[in-house]
Amino acid sequence: MKTAAFALIVCSTGWGAEAQLAVKNRSPLPPNAFYPLPLTSVKPRGWLERQLRIQADGLSGRLDEFWPSVGPDSGWLGGTGESWERGPYYLDGLVPLAFLLEDPKLIAKTRKWVNWTLSNQQPDGSIGPAKNDDWWPLMIMLKVLTQYQEATGDARVIPLMERYFQYQAGLLAGRPLQKWAVYRWGDEVLSLVWLYNRTGKAGLLDLARQLSTQGFDWKAHFADFQFREKVSKPQTGLKTHVVNNAMALKTSAVWGLVSGDRSDREAIHQLLREMDRYHLLPNGLHSGDEHYAGLNPSQGTELCAVVEGMFSLEHLSAILGETAFGDRLEKMAFNGLPGTFSGDMWAHQYDQQPNQVLCSRHPRAWTTNGGDSNLFGLEPNFGCCTSNFHQGWPKLVASLWMATPDDGVAAIAYGPSEVRTVVRNGVSATITEDTEYPFREKIRLVVNPDSSVAFPLALRVPKWADRARVTVNGKRVSGVRPGAYYRIERTWKKGDRVELTFPMRVRTSRWYHNSVALERGPLVFSLKIGEEWRKLRQIGPAADWEVHPTTPWNYGLILGGAKPRVIEKPVREMPFSAAGAPVEIRVRGRRIPEWGLENGSAGPLPVSPVASREPIETLTLIPYGSAKLRITAFPKLED
Ligand SMILES: [Zn+2]
Repeated sequence: MKTAAFALIVCSTGWGAEAQLAVKNRSPLPPNAFYPLPLTSVKPRGWLERQLRIQADGLSGRLDEFWPSVGPDSGWLGGTGESWERGPYYLDGLVPLAFLLEDPKLIAKTRKWVNWTLSNQQPDGSIGPAKNDDWWPLMIMLKVLTQYQEATGDARVIPLMERYFQYQAGLLAGRPLQKWAVYRWGDEVLSLVWLYNRTGKAGLLDLARQLSTQGFDWKAHFADFQFREKVSKPQTGLKTHVVNNAMALKTSAVWGLVSGDRSDREAIHQLLREMDRYHLLPNGLHSGDEHYAGLNPSQGTELCAVVEGMFSLEHLSAILGETAFGDRLEKMAFNGLPGTFSGDMWAHQYDQQPNQVLCSRHPRAWTTNGGDSNLFGLEPNFGCCTSNFHQGWPKLVASLWMATPDDGVAAIAYGPSEVRTVVRNGVSATITEDTEYPFREKIRLVVNPDSSVAFPLALRVPKWADRARVTVNGKRVSGVRPGAYYRIERTWKKGDRVELTFPMRVRTSRWYHNSVALERGPLVFSLKIGEEWRKLRQIGPAADWEVHPTTPWNYGLILGGAKPRVIEKPVREMPFSAAGAPVEIRVRGRRIPEWGLENGSAGPLPVSPVASREPIETLTLIPYGSAKLRITAFPKLED
């Protein structure tokens, strides 16, 4: 009877493979705060599973069928077509998407690509298309291979990587890193560390040192930061490029594992001080369209910088273990990421704006980008984001849970999910997370070890979560502090319940020209503006769209008096669309007639406080990710 019931549970949760151990840092690397779990240890559930399904049913699942850059002629499939970054970029997201959804059709697609690389290594150790002589796209392919190995256990991956690194170590002095690879070397160090932790071969760390001597010194760049406002065209270079900067969030910390230098581990704090002060926008993203663009909420951020920023924060959370990185990760993931896609994930932008009142073909005040950069479409401006965006949601899911160094489990970020891993004494355990976070404030965990076992459960308590409450089997625990991990050490039994409540009161934050944004939990809220989607052209199953406003947007907010009213709606099929927004906030405001359109964007933001004699209106705000047209940084009206 017992056995039958257990089998039923296993089937219903869909765990095919054995639980896997996290691989820890091997000496002389210093220990991480947390360790990423092998891919497929965490599975999406609830709205997150539906979101990954939306992605798979959208561009991600079909792109290779009609977009030539990742079509059958790709050099990464042995063809004569695109042989640089686009194939590996696509796989870097398709591999985790396919395996987290356990989607046979998508898994078959990834196998075709990865098999080509695995079976076409040259006798000298080189990999990839013969006509590629750039180290950079190979750095992406290495990330693909590490994920694929974790998901499948494919025995060819590790020997191939060893041979490739030997080949590169022999060549690098004479053929050093060039262009993009100079700025993105930290990504290869990640793969070197991954392999070193599995094989212990010291030559891998020597190669990492060689890369660091050829790579850009991001620590020095931010120690004496020269770019304190939007850059002009002549100032732009690869060091002011927003995607390189988003990738560089992790570089010093990753390198710090090899260097052992404390100042490398801590360099992220100086980086964030400078970038936040001069380039942070209210959606949680640094500006870059596609170079440093300052604090004005009409400037944009390139989509590649969103997904790369998330990937960086996932690794910062693991290496350094500060809750602030999880807070930032959630802010990017639940705002900037969905805010730059159509609700069905068939169209994306190149640049998104916090104050985005018109998406149209029009030259805008971008630092370098073209006039179609804020269209929703297949490849507005340039196709890098089209191939690179796929990693955003699946890597977030894979990183929600990590291992603690003492064989426990840590919640790095929150969302409906299920994690299965090995804890102390080799006991396997499953934790289910039932929640509609970030739209709701309650998170219910059920802990199910295969047999009773003691291990720590570390829970990130967000900085904004004043009066956060945690109960274990209905009993409230003490000592829960916002901005810290709360550790529960106990002997866990099947069915133990932990409930977290993170009160989501509406808060205001201050931005450019003394403007205000409204936030609730990890969500940023924006004015809901009527959207008219105008199709520009059809491209296979995809299309390019302009989005025009059908309602006014030039409002200031009245912050005194009545409190903002929060209205919760069901979390439906497409939460990141204006029609499907699961939360609304009602506030009062007045129009500001002199605030109008300029060069296709909301014109200069009036400096707050602002006077207006227009009638008071009740305004509806929805999550930033749901509002494809929006005002996020509002002028504050005089009392
Ligand atoms: Zn891009």
